[in-house]
This record gives sequence, C-alpha cells and structure tokens, in this order.
Amino acid sequence: MKGKTPRRPPKKPSNNQKDPVGVYCRVRPLGAEDEECCIEVISNTTIQLHAPDGLKANRNGEFKETQYSFKKVFGIKTTQRELFADVAKPLVEDLIHCKNGLLFTYGVTGSGKTYTMTGSPGQGGLLPRSLDMIFNSIGPYQAKRYVFKPDDKNGMEVQNQVDALLDRQKRDSQTSVPKTPTTRRIDPEFADMISPEEACKAGEVDEDSSYSVFVSYIEIYNNYIYDLLEETPFDPIKPKPPQSKILREDQNHNMYVAGCTEVEVKSTEEAFEVFWRGQKKRRIANTQLNRESSRSHSVFIIKLAQAPLDADGDNVLQDKSQVNVSQLCLVDLAGSERTSRTRAEGNRLREAGNINQSLMTLRTCIEVLRENQMCGTNKMVPYRDSKVTHLFKNYFDGEGKVRMVVCVNPKADDYEETLLVMRFAEMTQEVEVARPVDRPICGFAAGRRQRNQAFKDELTHRLEERGGPVDGESPTVLNQLLQSFHPLPPCEISGPNDDVTLPRLIDALEKRHKIRKLMVEEYNKTGKITLLRAQDSNLLSKENFIQEQRGRLGEKDKMIQNQKNEIDRLEKKSKMLEYKIDILQKTTNIYEEDKRSLQHELESREQRLQREMSEKRRMETRMQGIVTDAKLKWEKECERRVNAKQLEMQNKLWVKDEKLKQLKAIVTEGKTENRQPQRPSREKDKVPAKRSVSPSPVPTGPLVRPLHRRSHSAGGERWVDHKPTTNVDLDTVLQPNIPNAIKVNAPNEKALSKCDKYVLTHQEFASDGEIQTKLIKGEVFKTRGGGQAVQFTDIETLKQENPVAASRKRRSSETGPDGEPMERNWTNVETRCSVAVEMRAGSNLGPGYQHHGYPKRRKP
Ligand code: ADP
Ligand code: MG
Repeated sequence: MKGKTPRRPPKKPSNNQKDPVGVYCRVRPLGAEDEECCIEVISNTTIQLHAPDGLKANRNGEFKETQYSFKKVFGIKTTQRELFADVAKPLVEDLIHCKNGLLFTYGVTGSGKTYTMTGSPGQGGLLPRSLDMIFNSIGPYQAKRYVFKPDDKNGMEVQNQVDALLDRQKRDSQTSVPKTPTTRRIDPEFADMISPEEACKAGEVDEDSSYSVFVSYIEIYNNYIYDLLEETPFDPIKPKPPQSKILREDQNHNMYVAGCTEVEVKSTEEAFEVFWRGQKKRRIANTQLNRESSRSHSVFIIKLAQAPLDADGDNVLQDKSQVNVSQLCLVDLAGSERTSRTRAEGNRLREAGNINQSLMTLRTCIEVLRENQMCGTNKMVPYRDSKVTHLFKNYFDGEGKVRMVVCVNPKADDYEETLLVMRFAEMTQEVEVARPVDRPICGFAAGRRQRNQAFKDELTHRLEERGGPVDGESPTVLNQLLQSFHPLPPCEISGPNDDVTLPRLIDALEKRHKIRKLMVEEYNKTGKITLLRAQDSNLLSKENFIQEQRGRLGEKDKMIQNQKNEIDRLEKKSKMLEYKIDILQKTTNIYEEDKRSLQHELESREQRLQREMSEKRRMETRMQGIVTDAKLKWEKECERRVNAKQLEMQNKLWVKDEKLKQLKAIVTEGKTENRQPQRPSREKDKVPAKRSVSPSPVPTGPLVRPLHRRSHSAGGERWVDHKPTTNVDLDTVLQPNIPNAIKVNAPNEKALSKCDKYVLTHQEFASDGEIQTKLIKGEVFKTRGGGQAVQFTDIETLKQENPVAASRKRRSSETGPDGEPMERNWTNVETRCSVAVEMRAGSNLGPGYQHHGYPKRRKP
C-alpha cells in the first residue's frame, strides 16, 4: 500500500470543475536611475503598457497603448503581506486541507521575482510567509520527528513510536543541535523577515490529525537538476562539482526528483534555516562554476504529511493508506529575457539557450494546453522537453491550484521583453486546471482532541467543587440530577411536640434515597453503554485491522505473483542462454577440429616438402656426379680423338709424301730404273714392329688400334646371340657357333643382364649382289640407371663368292705378292685408317648403331 498522493487520487470523485491558472501581476517601483516608465496601473485588475518614446519614433508610432488584465494587479505600493494574503495564503490553506499548489514567479531579470518569492529582511516574501503560516496553523498538532518517513517516491510511511524514537536518538547523537528548535541559531538575514504581528493562521485545521512538514530545495540549471540540500562532504582541495538528479514517475504517474533530500522541519525557524542552507549552497556553486544565477530556476517544495490519530488520540494511526501528502511548490523561475540581452558568450550562451529553451517549453506547454482545452483537441503536451515542465506536469494534467505572479519592471528599457511577458501571461490565464477535490476533515472544529480536553477540564472542575471523585457521567445528565436534589430541610427540633421536622427530614431523606437509587441505576446504564461503546470501537478497530491485514495479504499476493513472473522470465532467459552456450560450444568444437585437421595437414605438407627438398639435394649431388663423370669421360675422349686425328693427319701427310716420292721416282724412272725395289726396305724401316701381318707393298696405317682378327666366340664369356627372324638361311659352311650363348630374336633386358658379350647376325647385299653376313659384336655393360648398354666393338663380315666372278676380278686388276689386288690393298690402307678413327669415335654409341666400313675379313 503506497502513500496516497492527492495530486491524482486513484478513485477521483466526479470532479469536472476546473479553474483557470491564477495570474497576478506585480509592478515593482522604478529604480533610482530609471527615468522613463512604460507601465501604468489603471485598475486593480488592469495595467496599460505604452511604448517608450524612442521606440515610438523608430517605428512610426506603430505601437499603441495596450492593456492587459489579470486576476489582480499589485501596484508599486503593495506590501509583501498584502500580496501573500491574496496570492499564497489560499494555497497554504489548500495545502493544509490536502490539496496541492504550484506558485511561480515569471518575468525578466530584475523585475522582482526573487523579491516576491523570497523577499528581504523585514520584507519576507511568499516563501517565508507560507512557511510561517503553516507552522502557525499546525504547530500544536505536529507529529513527533520521524513518525512520518518519506519513501523517496512521493509517498510517506508511518513509523511506529519505537522506530521513530530510535531515529530521533540517532539524530541527536549525530548532530549537536539543541532539542528545542526555537532556541536555534538563525541566520540573522532571515531572523526578522516576518514581524510577529503579521503572523497568520489557517482557518480550519483538523485537530484529530497529526502533521509533519518536509522541505526540499532544488535548482534547475542548464536543464540539470541539483539538490541544494544534499549534504556532501566538503573537500577544500578538490571541490566536487554538484551531481545532477533525475526525474522519475511514481506509480500514480506523479513526478518526483529521485534521491532528493527531504528535510523534516518542525518550526518556521528550522525551515528558514534549511532554506538558507540551500541558498548558500546555490550561491557558492554559482560563484565556483561561474554561473549566472538569473539563469537558474529554483524550486522550493513544501510537503505536508497528515494522518489521523488513533482512538486514544495520542498516536498517529499506523496505517500508510490513511496518510495524506500534499505539496506546495514555490518556484522562482529564471529571467525570461532572450539571450541577446545578456550578451553571454560561449558556454554561458549555450546554457542560456537551454534555460531559454526550458521557458520556451513552458510557453509551448501552456499554448498546447490552452489549445486542447479551447478546441477540444488532444495534442500531446511536450512536458518532457524540459525538466521544469516535466516536474510540473502533474499540476497541469492532474489537479491542483496553479498560480503565477508576473513581475514587471516598468522601466522603458524592458518594454519589449515586458510585452512578451504580458502575452505569455494572457495566454496562461486561459489554461484551466482541475480543481482539487474537497477532502472532508475527519472530525469537526471541536474534534476528539478538543472533546477529550473539555471532558478532562470538567472532571477536574467537579472534583474541585465536590472535593471527591466524580463519576464519569456526561455533564448534562449530571447537572439535571444535581438540580433535582433539594436542599435538606432544617433538622433542629423546636420542641417535644415538634412532629413536623422529623417527618419532613424523613421525607427528604427518602426522596434522596430514591434519587440515589435512580442515580445508581442511571450510572449502571451509562456504564453498560460505555462498555458497549468501548466494545464497539474495539470491534471497529479490529475490523480495521482485519481490513488492513487483508490489504497487506493482497499486496503480498501480488508481490508473489510478480516474483513468480520474474522467476519465469529469468528461467526462460537462462534456458535461452544455455541453448546459446550449447550452440557456441558446438561451434567451438567444430572450429577446434578444423584447426586440428589443418595443423595435421600443415605438418604432413611440411614433411613432404622436406622430403622433396632432400630428394632434390640428393638428385643434385647425383647429377653433379654424373656431370663430372661425363665431363671427365668426354675430356678423355676428346683428347683421344685429337690424338687419333693427329695420327691420321700425320699418316696422310706421310702417304702424300710417299706418293710424291713415288711420283718423283716415276718421273726420274728413266735415269734410275733400279731404285724401285728399295721401297719395301723403307717400309720395313718405318713400321717393322707395328705391322707384323702386312706383307702388302703399300705402307699400312701406322697407329691403328689392334683389332680382333678372330671371334671371341670360343672364349669363356657368356654371349647374347641375336639372330633376327628375317635372316635367310644361306647354307654356309662357316657359321658362328657360340657355346653357352643365349639365343634371342630381339634383344631383351633379361638376356643382356646375364651376359657380357653381344653379337648380332646381320644380312645385307654386297655391291656385287651377293648376300654378305655381318657379325656385329659388342660388349654389354651396366648403365648408371640400372639398365644394360651394348658398346659395339667389332664387325666380322662373312661372304660367299662365285668362283667365276672371282677369277674375272683378279684378271682385271694387278695382284700383290700376297695374292690380293694392289688397288684394293692400297685403298684398304686408307680405309682402315679412317675407320680406325671412326670406330673410336662411334665406340660410345648405344645399341643399334651400326658401324660401316670396318676392315673386311674375307673368308674364302
Ligand atoms: P529578479 O529576481 O526578477 O531578477 P529581484 O527580485 O532580484 O529581481 O529584484 C531586483 C531588485 O529590485 C532587488 O534589489 C529588489 O530588492 C528590488 N525590488 C524588486 N521588486 C521590488 C518591490 N516590489 N519593491 C521594492 N523593491 C523591489
Ligand atoms: Mg532573481
């Protein structure tokens, strides 16, 4: 159960009544240096503005005199007291009767806003007077400190006596303030703002309620809210800049400044002191931060909490729902003039812009409100655009009394700005605000508190009168009864035959006895009634208690439901988060696996690369080896060839020499014919050791490599005998017969690998048309690459010859001493020489290369 804020009661009684915003105008007296005046008060509700001379001349008399009407106009002679009585007193009355009020001053700087609101010593303004009136009215009915406790959200809690007492003790121990507020040290500036004879009081105050006053003081500067009562530890070395506050909305959509200090004050003096404290803080901040005070709005909020007393009339009823909180907002707005007037620069200009902005928002809000009310539209009022309007929102769209004092300085310099102020004031008057509902005061003027007092007084009086305890009858019955007592007749007996006195006395006593009986009866009856009444009230309070408990139960139920909802929400959220975590985990796993596989691949690639590198290196060294080998071989080969060529050339040279010599011999034959037989001897001289098997008259080649004249077929080597299938069987007597040879039709690797000699039997046609058979021989050796290569070394030629053809041949040419023709032998020498070299040159050629022109061996 939250504190009921009467600004917007949950169940408003049908209240369609509205009141326009009360706009009052106060004209301050001209300053000493001002000469020209542009305002004239023509009645107590109207003023007239006339343009100053300079302006009129400039604008060709365009400005006429304009009149503005207000609820009331206060001229220069108006006292602060008069103004208060008209403007603020009704608001304070309302406050005490649980209604809210807003009072603000509007006008240009220097027009008397602060003077009107705060005043000066001896000339207290609306604020100190309001405080004074409040305390004058509720003073004796105030609750003890800390019985009411603001809940920081516009509401108010009620503390029980014990808690309140503890809080009080805590406060007393913390501050060394004397308990009696009246003896406090008051700022002399504020001490005598209101003279005692000016004190006023509210009319009807519910005496059966208990009251407490709380004040807050804030400043709105540059659209930031600062708490002027906030106690911050002062740091002289590095003073902290003030922290701004924020606006919040409570559950009833009423605005409040979150975390704003609310000070409970018990007397006018104490309230003044708090106000002064705020003023001082404001002054210091403005000086330190180089602000212009005319650019800030100051808001002083007076909150009044009231709650009914309990049945005994001693304590506040411990029921928050019974607490009523009303508030009065006293606002001293910033100067309404436009920025250009104050020649501000930089930051100040921007701030000024913001301040003007907030006043502009106020104007806009008022405009929209007026339009909505006049045209029945439902446009949104931009309260939120500035802090000032946002804070006042509830006054305009809720209920309460709003009053504005428009302050004007009649000096001519202010004319243009004053005109704007007047227009705003006129517009504001057209805005209507819901009238606050009348809340009946619980008792009547003579309430429980008073009745109790009267009863107590009566009792003491009676006791005094009768000198003994008196029953608790109501005074009227008692009086009746007392009056019905006749005084006792005289009881002195005049004589022995006086028979009148005694019976009269008896009669009187009997009457008294009767009355006494009656009284006892009456007393018993009344006692029963009081008992019944007491029971009744007891029952009532019990019922109240039950109601309260039910309410609490409901609230707790709601709370439980809320918490359940919250738990549900959190559970859902946690499930969602779990799901997300799961997904993330999975993704992480996938990524990790990816990473692993990539790493693996990287490693294998690196290994492969290394292998390849080493292979390459190995290859390189091998290639280098091969190259050097080949180079060496070729070097040797070249050397050999060069040598052979040299020999050949020498041979040729020698042959030519020989020929020339023979020619010379032929030419000189006629003279010396018997010189011819000398040649063989010369030949013998020349090459006796080199050619043992050459009886030819023609000199043979000197340095021919000794060739194999015979086949090695009979040796111990293993042969590959290659006979192509195309060969024709010639039926010859001499056939190569190589023992232990592998016979093949085509050379193959396997056969070659097992043998070290190779022979190819090749048939071809000779120049005479006969078939000749050649045995091409070679050596098999292993290549580096692991294969087999054949190096041809020799060719044996086998030829069949027709005997007829052979004799014919012989005839046709001269034969040598060994039976061979001379010519052939001659050419054979040359051929042999050249072939010797050729064979050397071709000896390295691979298999399949056939050497032609080898010296032919003829087999008969
Ligand atoms: P504002 O707050 O609008 O800037 P102030 O209240 O500070 O203006 O007034 C400026 C000066 O004028 C002050 O010195 C104040 O005492 C004086 N002043 C304003 N209004 C009146 C008035 N009605 N009677 C006498 N002096 C006034
Ligand atoms: Mg001021």
